[in-house]
Amino acid sequence: MNNLIGESIFRGNWKKFSHSDLYDCLNLLPDKDLLKDIGFDEQIRWMTYLYSAPKTISGKTLNNRNHVIGLYDPFAKRKCFPAGLRFCINVYTGCSHWCKYCYSVGYIRDSFIGRKKKIYREQFVKDIEELKALNLTPSPLHLSNSTDPLQPLENVQKDMLWTLNKLSENQNLFTTITILTKNPELLSSNEYLTICREINNLKVEVSCAFFDEKRKSSIELCSPSIRSRLKGMASLRKSNISVALRLDPLFPREPLSQKYFKKPRLTDYGAPVAQTEGDINNLLKFANDINCYRIIVSPLKLTFGRYQKSDIVERYLPLYKELGEGKLIKKGNAFRMPNEYFVELLEYPKQLAKHYGIEIFYCKQSLFNTK
Ligand code: SF4
Repeated sequence: MNNLIGESIFRGNWKKFSHSDLYDCLNLLPDKDLLKDIGFDEQIRWMTYLYSAPKTISGKTLNNRNHVIGLYDPFAKRKCFPAGLRFCINVYTGCSHWCKYCYSVGYIRDSFIGRKKKIYREQFVKDIEELKALNLTPSPLHLSNSTDPLQPLENVQKDMLWTLNKLSENQNLFTTITILTKNPELLSSNEYLTICREINNLKVEVSCAFFDEKRKSSIELCSPSIRSRLKGMASLRKSNISVALRLDPLFPREPLSQKYFKKPRLTDYGAPVAQTEGDINNLLKFANDINCYRIIVSPLKLTFGRYQKSDIVERYLPLYKELGEGKLIKKGNAFRMPNEYFVELLEYPKQLAKHYGIEIFYCKQSLFNTK
């Protein structure tokens, strides 16, 4: 351990973990499965990266260390997330695309205001230094779960461009580097594309749930147009960058299944028409034409924001209530559609994907398949 980590990276009151206190500290982990199936030496190194070792063990809790290269979904229990440890960088805080279905309203204050992180670059450099010194087994990296790293702020702040440069120099620390965005057009511009080409194992996931611009604009108030997204995706593919289409979220759509609904139209429940079968066909056809490597889907969750209210929740709520036979299905801070209905909703895109010969994955399943 001492040989692996130079003293220079231990700063402030960060005390490194020793073999002897590992057992006690493992017991202090909020999620006992976090480091399951990892060898003893590597457990120590992960603990050192993630936590400050308490000065004395008894009665103490572990303190999280601040990183910009942090754990992917740190609040999820590993039991429901068994694909191994992975990293995530949220380049900015908040996101100005203003998608009414955004999950981040549940945990980020002023989530529709994109802003830079104070010591982002300095902390990033420290994190890379530590990852190198700790020699952790390379894991997948995702940018970004709670913000779009290529939102308008990027045009002035350029932290994503800077990050891509640094990642290209340190790509051996990660197995895959996945960018999630609604702005592939910026990524396909020369200064970004030049760096993207230098990153092996780069994957770009483009969220595009709509085909109709008006429907898009009524639900994603300030996100890039569909035209811009399709143009950006096509140019990335032309440069041989791997691109996945995220048909995400999947909205309830007509024809409404008689198995679940008494009324025939979405508007009978006050819900907007967001996606039609024609839209889905157009998107999958496009994905096939440009040779996307996969389609990723997830159901519409109605997140009731701690910090922000969205009319989308109110507008879909009567529909979700009927789906739950009068009861709302609540999990975490969102109302969900029943899984059986999602399976039914998925049938049409699944058939199309089969027809076009593209793999289609549920969001979490896609994650587990990204090694
Ligand atoms: S692009 Fe993503 S992070 Fe940004 S507002 Fe939309 S859903 Fe939220």
